[in-house]
Amino acid sequence: MEITWVPIVDISEIGSVVDELSDNLRMNNQRYRKRRYNGLAEGAAGIAIACSYMGRVYPNHAWDHMAHKYLVMAVNSLYRNEGLDISLFNGVAGIGIAATYLSKDYTRYNTLISKINKIIIKNVTDMQKTYLDLVSTPSSKYDLISGLAGICTYMLYNKDLVKFVKKPLSILVHKIIDNDGLLGYYTAYPDIEWGKKYNELYEQYEHGLIDVGMAHGISGVLAILSRAYLQGIAVEEQKEAINKIAEWLVHNCISDKYGCGWPEFLPYDTTLKNFNIDKFIYKPSIRNIWCYGVAGIASALLLSGKAIKKQTYIDFSVKAIRSSADRIRPENVPNFFCHGISGVLETYLRFYNYTGDRKIKKESINLLDRLMNAHKSKHLLTYNNTNNEKNKENVGLLTGAAGIFLPILASATNIPPSWDSIFGLSY
Ligand SMILES: [Zn+2]
Repeated sequence: MEITWVPIVDISEIGSVVDELSDNLRMNNQRYRKRRYNGLAEGAAGIAIACSYMGRVYPNHAWDHMAHKYLVMAVNSLYRNEGLDISLFNGVAGIGIAATYLSKDYTRYNTLISKINKIIIKNVTDMQKTYLDLVSTPSSKYDLISGLAGICTYMLYNKDLVKFVKKPLSILVHKIIDNDGLLGYYTAYPDIEWGKKYNELYEQYEHGLIDVGMAHGISGVLAILSRAYLQGIAVEEQKEAINKIAEWLVHNCISDKYGCGWPEFLPYDTTLKNFNIDKFIYKPSIRNIWCYGVAGIASALLLSGKAIKKQTYIDFSVKAIRSSADRIRPENVPNFFCHGISGVLETYLRFYNYTGDRKIKKESINLLDRLMNAHKSKHLLTYNNTNNEKNKENVGLLTGAAGIFLPILASATNIPPSWDSIFGLSY
């Protein structure tokens, strides 16, 4: 766990944008009071984390109280949702991780945390059972957002759950190790859970696909296995599994005019070194974003290199990040975290803090400037720079104000953004 953190600008430089985002979090708290589900992705639990980090950066203000109010709203929604799943971004684990983040080193919320932990321990066993039998694995069974990797994220974060994490970790490991040559995270065409262009997906990935990204794919699994290893928690063959995924990512990196990167998906039979982009029927786009692009994937690769002490993975991840900056130049990239500017900013801050690389620092400042300019032109909280009032009301972590707020604060403070372990970016 990082104990030092180097900002890229002075705190005074973000004052005006912090005022706007703070007002947004304050003014919107009534709207979240009666929401049916108030979890991490777009609900009060994610906003509580943003308020809590704000309280650490500006301790004399009322942010801790605001964080508490949002957490209470999140917990109340648990009572309205019996049978809610235990996932990280859409379920009980997300409220658990928010309560743990706000707990000030377990000096409060212990009764709540203990109740949530009992639900996790009881239900993770069922989740493991259904998962083991699958040949084709829908991403929601294993990924960071809804699946086992996300549950393990909370289990590694909470001191009382860590001792139970080895079983789900070993299940993630065996999916990788038990498959000769190929990774076990294969999704056949009928099990692909999203994507509007199904026919296109079928033609492109006739024999099934491997989701490459951090949010729903193999990189999220790599991040969680590496994090556990860095925390000193290892199960049999975990090191081999980390190495297998990392090596696969390096071998399947695709070159385009910007440099190396990864598309959202790769065909299941992708076992060849230097897979050629011309082999695709439809040319996939390589994006530099957290959920489905270079920023998230390279972050997982960096963690794997740190975990198993393989410099080639670290060097490769830094190379991918350095060369991908131009992929986010287009003006229509949104400002929020999931597939927007602020998520990339957070990954760049992590890479800068690890490498001290001047080019990565410069690119981080460019991204921060973009967010500051969007603020000046009153488009910080709107999607694709259109003046859509509805989007201004989105305060959530993945596609709203809270997720824009957090990396901006992390750019200007020396308080480490430990909250980003939720996104698979740290340990
Ligand atoms: Zn996204």
